[in-house]
Amino acid sequence: MFTLIENAEVYAPEALGRRSILVGGEKILWMGESFAARETLPNLTVMDASGCLVVPGFVDNHVHIIGGGGEGSFATRTPEITLSELTTAGVTSVIGVLGTDSVSRHTSSLIAKARALEEEGISAWALLGSYQLPLRTFSGHVQDDLVLLDKLIGIGEVAISDHRSSQPLLEELIKIGAVAHVAGMLSGKGCLVNVHLGDGPGNLDLLFEVVARSELTLAQFIPTHLNRNPELFEESLRYGLEGGYVDVTTSTIPLFLEEGEVKCSKALKRYLDAGIPVEQISFSSDGQGSLPNFDTQGNFQGLSVGSCSSVWPEVRDAVFQEHIPLETALKVITSSPADHYRLPARKGHLEPGGDADMVFLDNSSLGIRTVMARGKIMVHEGEPVVFGTFERRS
Ligand code: ZN
Repeated sequence: MFTLIENAEVYAPEALGRRSILVGGEKILWMGESFAARETLPNLTVMDASGCLVVPGFVDNHVHIIGGGGEGSFATRTPEITLSELTTAGVTSVIGVLGTDSVSRHTSSLIAKARALEEEGISAWALLGSYQLPLRTFSGHVQDDLVLLDKLIGIGEVAISDHRSSQPLLEELIKIGAVAHVAGMLSGKGCLVNVHLGDGPGNLDLLFEVVARSELTLAQFIPTHLNRNPELFEESLRYGLEGGYVDVTTSTIPLFLEEGEVKCSKALKRYLDAGIPVEQISFSSDGQGSLPNFDTQGNFQGLSVGSCSSVWPEVRDAVFQEHIPLETALKVITSSPADHYRLPARKGHLEPGGDADMVFLDNSSLGIRTVMARGKIMVHEGEPVVFGTFERRS
Protein backbone atom coordinates (compact mmCIF):
# COMPACT_ATOMS: atom_id res chain seq x y z
CA MET A 1 0.00 0.00 0.00
CA PHE A 2 1.53 3.27 -1.15
CA THR A 3 0.25 6.83 -0.92
CA LEU A 4 1.57 9.65 -3.07
CA ILE A 5 0.89 13.10 -1.67
CA GLU A 6 1.08 15.70 -4.41
CA ASN A 7 1.09 19.51 -4.58
CA ALA A 8 2.01 19.91 -0.92
CA GLU A 9 3.77 23.01 0.34
CA VAL A 10 6.17 21.24 2.69
CA TYR A 11 7.67 22.50 5.93
CA ALA A 12 9.97 19.78 7.20
CA PRO A 13 9.92 21.97 9.43
CA GLU A 14 12.31 23.91 7.16
CA ALA A 15 10.42 25.43 4.22
CA LEU A 16 11.08 23.14 1.23
CA GLY A 17 8.55 24.53 -1.23
CA ARG A 18 6.24 22.37 -3.35
CA ARG A 19 7.01 18.67 -2.93
CA SER A 20 5.54 15.24 -3.56
CA ILE A 21 5.81 12.73 -0.71
CA LEU A 22 5.65 8.96 -1.20
CA VAL A 23 4.44 7.02 1.84
CA GLY A 24 4.76 3.24 2.10
CA GLY A 25 3.54 1.42 5.20
CA GLU A 26 4.45 3.61 8.17
CA LYS A 27 7.37 5.40 6.49
CA ILE A 28 8.17 8.27 4.16
CA LEU A 29 9.92 6.50 1.30
CA TRP A 30 10.70 9.45 -0.94
CA MET A 31 10.31 13.22 -1.20
CA GLY A 32 10.95 15.29 -4.29
CA GLU A 33 9.56 17.57 -6.93
CA SER A 34 7.75 15.05 -9.11
CA PHE A 35 7.40 11.28 -8.76
CA ALA A 36 7.88 9.68 -12.16
CA ALA A 37 7.55 5.96 -11.47
CA ARG A 38 3.87 5.73 -10.49
CA GLU A 39 3.10 2.76 -12.70
CA THR A 40 5.72 0.67 -10.93
CA LEU A 41 3.76 0.82 -7.67
CA PRO A 42 0.73 -1.42 -7.13
CA ASN A 43 -2.20 -0.04 -5.11
CA LEU A 44 -0.99 3.54 -5.33
CA THR A 45 -3.38 6.05 -3.77
CA VAL A 46 -2.86 9.66 -4.82
CA MET A 47 -3.73 12.47 -2.37
CA ASP A 48 -3.97 15.97 -3.75
CA ALA A 49 -2.72 18.38 -1.07
CA SER A 50 -3.41 21.55 -3.07
CA GLY A 51 -4.21 24.41 -0.70
CA CYS A 52 -2.40 22.71 2.16
CA LEU A 53 0.83 23.12 4.00
CA VAL A 54 2.22 19.77 5.09
CA VAL A 55 4.21 19.83 8.33
CA PRO A 56 5.57 17.16 10.71
CA GLY A 57 3.13 15.61 13.17
CA PHE A 58 3.27 17.50 16.45
CA VAL A 59 5.32 16.26 19.39
CA ASP A 60 3.75 17.03 22.79
CA ASN A 61 6.41 16.31 25.37
CA HIS A 62 4.39 16.70 28.57
CA VAL A 63 0.94 15.11 28.81
CA HIS A 64 -0.74 13.39 31.74
CA ILE A 65 -1.91 10.57 29.47
CA ILE A 66 -3.44 8.55 32.32
CA GLY A 67 -4.75 11.70 34.02
CA GLY A 68 -3.32 13.65 36.92
CA GLY A 69 -4.59 16.13 39.45
CA GLY A 70 -6.29 14.84 42.58
CA GLU A 71 -5.11 17.89 44.50
CA GLY A 72 -8.64 18.66 45.70
CA SER A 73 -9.24 15.05 46.87
CA PHE A 74 -10.25 11.99 44.91
CA ALA A 75 -13.08 13.55 42.91
CA THR A 76 -10.61 15.95 41.30
CA ARG A 77 -8.48 13.23 39.70
CA THR A 78 -8.49 14.08 35.99
CA PRO A 79 -9.43 11.55 33.29
CA GLU A 80 -7.02 9.79 30.96
CA ILE A 81 -6.64 10.99 27.42
CA THR A 82 -8.28 9.50 24.35
CA LEU A 83 -6.69 8.87 20.98
CA SER A 84 -8.79 11.41 19.12
CA GLU A 85 -8.09 14.15 21.67
CA LEU A 86 -4.46 13.84 20.61
CA THR A 87 -4.92 13.34 16.88
CA THR A 88 -7.44 16.15 16.38
CA ALA A 89 -4.87 18.43 18.06
CA GLY A 90 -2.31 17.33 15.46
CA VAL A 91 -0.31 15.38 18.04
CA THR A 92 1.21 12.17 16.66
CA SER A 93 3.97 11.73 19.27
CA VAL A 94 3.35 12.13 22.97
CA ILE A 95 5.43 11.80 26.12
CA GLY A 96 3.42 10.78 29.17
CA VAL A 97 4.09 11.95 32.71
CA LEU A 98 2.70 11.40 36.21
CA GLY A 99 2.23 14.42 38.46
CA THR A 100 1.54 15.16 42.10
CA ASP A 101 -0.13 11.83 42.69
CA SER A 102 2.27 8.90 42.78
CA VAL A 103 0.03 7.02 45.23
CA SER A 104 -2.84 6.11 42.95
CA ARG A 105 -0.96 6.60 39.64
CA HIS A 106 2.05 4.54 38.65
CA THR A 107 4.69 4.46 35.95
CA SER A 108 3.53 0.94 35.02
CA SER A 109 0.07 2.29 34.08
CA LEU A 110 1.76 5.12 32.17
CA ILE A 111 3.77 2.62 30.12
CA ALA A 112 0.64 0.54 29.50
CA LYS A 113 -1.21 3.64 28.25
CA ALA A 114 1.72 4.58 26.00
CA ARG A 115 1.59 1.08 24.53
CA ALA A 116 -2.19 1.38 24.07
CA LEU A 117 -1.81 4.67 22.16
CA GLU A 118 0.87 3.01 20.06
CA GLU A 119 -1.50 0.13 19.22
CA GLU A 120 -4.20 2.67 18.37
CA GLY A 121 -1.91 4.31 15.83
CA ILE A 122 0.27 7.09 17.22
CA SER A 123 3.68 7.07 18.98
CA ALA A 124 4.05 7.39 22.73
CA TRP A 125 6.63 7.17 25.50
CA ALA A 126 6.74 7.72 29.24
CA LEU A 127 8.96 9.32 31.86
CA LEU A 128 9.99 7.53 35.05
CA GLY A 129 8.83 9.13 38.29
CA SER A 130 6.49 11.84 39.51
CA TYR A 131 6.76 15.14 41.39
CA GLN A 132 8.45 13.30 44.26
CA LEU A 133 11.99 12.16 44.91
CA PRO A 134 13.24 9.54 45.57
CA LEU A 135 11.94 7.85 42.42
CA ARG A 136 9.99 4.62 42.54
CA THR A 137 11.60 2.11 40.19
CA PHE A 138 10.86 -1.29 38.66
CA SER A 139 14.24 -2.92 39.10
CA GLY A 140 15.40 -1.10 42.20
CA HIS A 141 17.82 1.00 40.14
CA VAL A 142 16.87 4.10 38.16
CA GLN A 143 19.65 3.55 35.64
CA ASP A 144 18.63 -0.06 34.92
CA ASP A 145 15.01 1.01 34.34
CA LEU A 146 16.03 3.77 31.93
CA VAL A 147 18.50 1.67 29.99
CA LEU A 148 16.45 -1.51 29.72
CA LEU A 149 12.78 -0.43 29.47
CA ASP A 150 12.19 0.82 25.93
CA LYS A 151 9.17 3.00 26.66
CA LEU A 152 10.99 4.98 29.37
CA ILE A 153 12.96 7.82 27.79
CA GLY A 154 13.69 10.07 30.74
CA ILE A 155 12.83 11.07 34.29
CA GLY A 156 10.07 13.34 35.46
CA GLU A 157 8.25 15.42 36.07
CA VAL A 158 10.24 16.11 39.24
CA ALA A 159 8.85 19.17 41.04
CA ILE A 160 10.97 22.01 42.44
CA SER A 161 10.05 25.45 43.79
CA ASP A 162 6.56 24.17 44.56
CA HIS A 163 4.69 23.43 47.78
CA ARG A 164 3.60 20.14 46.22
CA SER A 165 7.19 19.00 45.61
CA SER A 166 9.16 16.67 47.90
CA GLN A 167 11.41 19.69 48.63
CA PRO A 168 14.32 17.92 46.91
CA LEU A 169 17.83 18.66 48.12
CA LEU A 170 20.56 19.83 45.80
CA GLU A 171 22.38 16.51 46.23
CA GLU A 172 19.26 14.56 45.22
CA LEU A 173 18.93 16.53 41.99
CA ILE A 174 22.62 16.11 41.19
CA LYS A 175 22.34 12.34 41.72
CA ILE A 176 19.22 12.09 39.53
CA GLY A 177 20.88 14.15 36.79
CA ALA A 178 24.01 12.02 36.95
CA VAL A 179 22.12 8.74 36.71
CA ALA A 180 20.07 10.07 33.77
CA HIS A 181 23.21 11.31 32.03
CA VAL A 182 24.92 7.91 32.11
CA ALA A 183 21.67 6.08 31.25
CA GLY A 184 21.43 8.28 28.16
CA MET A 185 24.96 7.34 27.14
CA LEU A 186 24.32 3.61 27.62
CA SER A 187 20.92 3.50 25.93
CA GLY A 188 21.17 6.14 23.19
CA LYS A 189 17.99 7.70 24.55
CA GLY A 190 17.65 11.36 25.55
CA CYS A 191 17.20 10.54 29.25
CA LEU A 192 16.54 14.15 30.22
CA VAL A 193 15.16 15.07 33.61
CA ASN A 194 11.86 16.91 33.12
CA VAL A 195 11.56 19.42 35.96
CA HIS A 196 8.21 20.92 36.97
CA LEU A 197 8.56 24.53 38.18
CA GLY A 198 6.02 25.87 40.64
CA ASP A 199 5.43 29.40 41.91
CA GLY A 200 7.98 29.10 44.75
CA PRO A 201 10.52 31.92 45.13
CA GLY A 202 13.47 29.62 44.40
CA ASN A 203 12.54 29.54 40.72
CA LEU A 204 15.43 27.92 38.79
CA ASP A 205 18.06 28.39 41.53
CA LEU A 206 18.43 24.67 42.21
CA LEU A 207 19.20 23.84 38.58
CA PHE A 208 21.80 26.61 38.30
CA GLU A 209 23.36 25.23 41.48
CA VAL A 210 23.39 21.66 40.16
CA VAL A 211 25.52 22.82 37.24
CA ALA A 212 27.79 24.93 39.45
CA ARG A 213 28.44 22.00 41.82
CA SER A 214 28.81 19.10 39.34
CA GLU A 215 30.00 18.17 35.86
CA LEU A 216 26.41 18.14 34.60
CA THR A 217 25.21 20.74 32.10
CA LEU A 218 21.88 22.57 32.00
CA ALA A 219 21.03 20.51 28.90
CA GLN A 220 20.62 17.43 31.14
CA PHE A 221 17.35 18.95 32.35
CA ILE A 222 14.23 20.23 30.67
CA PRO A 223 12.38 22.59 33.00
CA THR A 224 8.71 23.17 32.19
CA HIS A 225 5.88 25.61 33.04
CA LEU A 226 8.49 28.42 32.73
CA ASN A 227 5.79 30.88 31.64
CA ARG A 228 3.70 30.45 34.79
CA ASN A 229 4.71 33.79 36.36
CA PRO A 230 6.70 36.85 35.24
CA GLU A 231 9.66 36.33 37.62
CA LEU A 232 10.18 32.73 36.63
CA PHE A 233 9.89 33.64 32.97
CA GLU A 234 12.52 36.38 33.27
CA GLU A 235 14.87 33.92 34.96
CA SER A 236 14.23 31.39 32.20
CA LEU A 237 15.70 33.88 29.70
CA ARG A 238 19.05 33.59 31.51
CA TYR A 239 18.63 29.82 31.70
CA GLY A 240 18.13 29.59 27.94
CA LEU A 241 21.00 31.95 27.17
CA GLU A 242 23.29 29.76 29.26
CA GLY A 243 22.41 26.77 27.07
CA GLY A 244 19.43 25.17 28.82
CA TYR A 245 16.26 23.90 27.21
CA VAL A 246 13.18 26.01 27.95
CA ASP A 247 9.66 24.55 27.83
CA VAL A 248 6.48 26.60 28.23
CA THR A 249 2.96 25.34 28.88
CA THR A 250 0.08 26.12 26.52
CA SER A 251 -2.92 25.00 28.64
CA THR A 252 -4.22 27.92 30.64
CA ILE A 253 -7.32 29.80 31.75
CA PRO A 254 -8.03 33.55 31.38
CA LEU A 255 -7.42 34.21 35.09
CA PHE A 256 -3.87 32.80 34.95
CA LEU A 257 -3.05 35.14 32.07
CA GLU A 258 -4.57 38.10 33.95
CA GLU A 259 -2.38 37.19 36.93
CA GLY A 260 0.77 37.41 34.86
CA GLU A 261 1.24 34.06 33.16
CA VAL A 262 3.09 34.67 29.90
CA LYS A 263 1.14 33.59 26.83
CA CYS A 264 3.24 31.01 24.94
CA SER A 265 3.20 32.85 21.61
CA LYS A 266 4.62 35.93 23.38
CA ALA A 267 7.10 33.82 25.33
CA LEU A 268 8.47 32.45 22.07
CA LYS A 269 8.90 35.97 20.72
CA ARG A 270 10.74 37.05 23.88
CA TYR A 271 13.04 34.02 23.81
CA LEU A 272 13.93 34.52 20.15
CA ASP A 273 14.45 38.26 20.56
CA ALA A 274 16.76 37.56 23.52
CA GLY A 275 18.88 35.34 21.26
CA ILE A 276 17.90 31.87 22.50
CA PRO A 277 18.08 29.45 19.55
CA VAL A 278 14.71 27.93 18.62
CA GLU A 279 16.40 24.54 18.86
CA GLN A 280 16.37 24.98 22.66
CA ILE A 281 12.70 26.02 22.89
CA SER A 282 9.62 23.83 23.12
CA PHE A 283 5.90 24.13 23.85
CA SER A 284 3.98 21.40 25.66
CA SER A 285 0.33 21.22 26.60
CA ASP A 286 0.32 19.75 30.14
CA GLY A 287 -2.73 17.98 28.69
CA GLN A 288 -5.07 16.26 31.21
CA GLY A 289 -3.36 18.17 34.04
CA SER A 290 -5.77 19.94 36.40
CA LEU A 291 -6.35 23.69 36.17
CA PRO A 292 -8.16 25.06 39.22
CA ASN A 293 -10.69 27.65 38.16
CA PHE A 294 -11.60 30.68 40.32
CA ASP A 295 -14.02 33.54 39.66
CA THR A 296 -12.96 37.21 39.78
CA GLN A 297 -13.60 37.25 43.56
CA GLY A 298 -11.32 34.28 43.97
CA ASN A 299 -14.07 31.77 44.73
CA PHE A 300 -13.34 28.21 43.69
CA GLN A 301 -15.48 27.33 40.70
CA GLY A 302 -14.19 23.90 39.96
CA LEU A 303 -11.43 22.38 37.94
CA SER A 304 -10.69 22.61 34.26
CA VAL A 305 -8.51 20.09 32.54
CA GLY A 306 -5.51 20.97 30.39
CA SER A 307 -5.81 20.03 26.75
CA CYS A 308 -3.48 19.04 23.94
CA SER A 309 -5.67 21.17 21.69
CA SER A 310 -4.02 24.26 23.22
CA VAL A 311 -0.67 23.62 21.53
CA TRP A 312 -1.37 24.43 17.90
CA PRO A 313 -3.32 27.71 18.50
CA GLU A 314 -0.29 29.11 20.38
CA VAL A 315 2.01 28.32 17.46
CA ARG A 316 -0.51 29.85 15.10
CA ASP A 317 -0.69 32.97 17.29
CA ALA A 318 3.10 33.14 17.20
CA VAL A 319 2.87 33.31 13.39
CA PHE A 320 -0.12 35.63 13.01
CA GLN A 321 0.27 37.89 16.07
CA GLU A 322 4.02 37.83 16.76
CA HIS A 323 5.06 37.58 13.10
CA ILE A 324 7.44 34.71 13.70
CA PRO A 325 8.09 32.77 10.46
CA LEU A 326 6.09 29.52 10.32
CA GLU A 327 9.18 27.39 9.80
CA THR A 328 10.67 28.80 13.01
CA ALA A 329 7.52 28.63 15.12
CA LEU A 330 6.78 25.07 14.00
CA LYS A 331 10.02 23.81 15.48
CA VAL A 332 8.85 24.28 19.06
CA ILE A 333 6.31 21.46 18.64
CA THR A 334 8.18 19.31 16.10
CA SER A 335 11.95 19.08 15.69
CA SER A 336 12.99 20.78 18.95
CA PRO A 337 11.17 18.51 21.44
CA ALA A 338 11.85 15.43 19.30
CA ASP A 339 15.56 16.20 19.20
CA HIS A 340 15.75 17.07 22.93
CA TYR A 341 14.44 13.62 23.81
CA ARG A 342 16.28 11.97 20.91
CA LEU A 343 13.05 10.35 19.71
CA PRO A 344 13.61 7.60 17.13
CA ALA A 345 12.40 7.41 13.49
CA ARG A 346 13.14 11.10 12.78
CA LYS A 347 10.12 12.22 14.76
CA GLY A 348 9.49 15.94 14.38
CA HIS A 349 11.05 15.99 10.90
CA LEU A 350 9.74 15.12 7.43
CA GLU A 351 12.33 13.18 5.52
CA PRO A 352 12.74 9.87 3.67
CA GLY A 353 13.28 6.98 6.08
CA GLY A 354 11.39 8.71 8.88
CA ASP A 355 7.93 7.86 10.16
CA ALA A 356 5.07 9.25 8.05
CA ASP A 357 3.62 11.57 10.70
CA MET A 358 2.13 14.67 9.07
CA VAL A 359 -0.33 17.45 9.66
CA PHE A 360 -2.05 19.08 6.69
CA LEU A 361 -2.84 22.73 7.42
CA ASP A 362 -5.10 25.07 5.50
CA ASN A 363 -2.66 27.38 3.77
CA SER A 364 -4.47 30.58 4.72
CA SER A 365 -6.10 29.96 8.13
CA LEU A 366 -3.49 27.41 9.25
CA GLY A 367 -6.35 25.30 10.62
CA ILE A 368 -5.71 21.57 11.03
CA ARG A 369 -7.38 19.65 8.21
CA THR A 370 -5.85 16.19 8.00
CA VAL A 371 -3.56 14.25 10.30
CA MET A 372 -1.54 11.19 9.34
CA ALA A 373 0.23 9.06 11.95
CA ARG A 374 2.64 6.30 10.96
CA GLY A 375 1.23 6.34 7.43
CA LYS A 376 -2.44 6.17 8.37
CA ILE A 377 -5.03 8.96 8.11
CA MET A 378 -6.33 9.60 11.65
CA VAL A 379 -8.18 12.89 11.06
CA HIS A 380 -9.82 13.94 7.80
CA GLU A 381 -11.04 17.52 7.23
CA GLY A 382 -10.89 18.19 10.96
CA GLU A 383 -12.88 15.10 11.98
CA PRO A 384 -11.38 11.99 13.55
CA VAL A 385 -11.74 8.88 11.40
CA VAL A 386 -9.85 6.52 13.73
CA PHE A 387 -10.94 6.20 17.36
CA GLY A 388 -9.49 4.69 20.50
CA THR A 389 -10.87 1.32 21.53
CA PHE A 390 -13.47 2.65 23.97
CA GLU A 391 -14.14 6.07 22.47
CA ARG A 392 -17.71 7.00 21.77
CA ARG A 393 -18.16 7.78 18.08
CA SER A 394 -20.36 10.76 17.47
ZN1 ZN B 1 3.79 20.01 36.05
